[in-house]
Amino acid sequence: ERLELESGLRNALESGELRLLYQPILHLETGEIIGGEALIRWQHPTLGLVSPAKFIPLAEETGLIVPIGAWVLREACIQAKSWQDEFGESRNFVMSVNLSGRQFQSQNLLGLVRDTLQETGLKPSGLKLEITESAMIDDVEAAIDKMNALKDLGVLLAVDDFGTGYSSLAYLRRLPVNTVKIDQSFINIMGCEPQPAAIVQTIIMLCRALNLDVTGEGIENKDQLLQLQGMGCDLGQGYFFSKPVDSSTFNKLLKTRYIKKEYDVETKLELKELLRAA
Ligand code: C2E
Ligand code: MG
Ligand code: MG
Repeated sequence: ERLELESGLRNALESGELRLLYQPILHLETGEIIGGEALIRWQHPTLGLVSPAKFIPLAEETGLIVPIGAWVLREACIQAKSWQDEFGESRNFVMSVNLSGRQFQSQNLLGLVRDTLQETGLKPSGLKLEITESAMIDDVEAAIDKMNALKDLGVLLAVDDFGTGYSSLAYLRRLPVNTVKIDQSFINIMGCEPQPAAIVQTIIMLCRALNLDVTGEGIENKDQLLQLQGMGCDLGQGYFFSKPVDSSTFNKLLKTRYIKKEYDVETKLELKELLRAA
């Protein structure tokens, strides 16, 4: 299967088998869609839909991530530009794009981002690059330099899957990022066990103190939403609001502008009190 995937991946790009889906990122208090995350999909001719968790590591090993990553960036920027044009700059739509370790470490990342922004006409502040801790950890000093250079271009930066790597507090302070995305594994079990909730609360408080935005990933139900709201989490994404969808479905979501989830105000206040007391 690995061989089949590897040879298939080589021409997936030219054969048009790769596409992007977009998952909305919302302001948790208002339900307003303030951005989206581009997520790659591979429709394999015989194997069907292959998950990025399976083929991105393979693309990393073979180096195919370089052309694939460049395609993702370009495609996502074109889409973001078109939504900004359609819905107006005042909506401040931000497109988040994942960078794998090898992409982040590649010599010409800066040039690629600069050229892609220029060619697509997307303003730099409309792009947020998501980087995992593990992609930075090999050489923290070099990573900080690179992130500063990206930041100088005007793009936004996020630490993805925070909490699963080293999660060093000392270096979170030094990373020039705008956003921390709390890994979904914590959000998943938050309602069942006390420790994950304590960890999530701590990360949120830390981010507030450091003046960073926090995004809760993988919100699947109302309880998780209420808990995160009570803890003061700014942004969120998850199946509870929407799964990753194609661009035309996402466009419809943007037209309605808000994904409001009904929750009763009493429960929310009660929860805030409980958290305060704790
Ligand atoms: P990620 O960047 O942390 O993306 C979030 C993943 O969580 C996505 O999986 C998304 O579909 C999933 N998700 C969102 N909400 C929920 C939820 O409520 N419940 C559950 N169970 N899952 C949820 P996906 O699309 O399969 O992507 C997996 C990973 O593959 C991504 O994790 C990212 O690391 C990588 N990836 C995806 N697209 C790209 C890409 O274009 N380039 C690179 N380098 N990596 C990518
Ligand atoms: Mg991500
Ligand atoms: Mg993540």
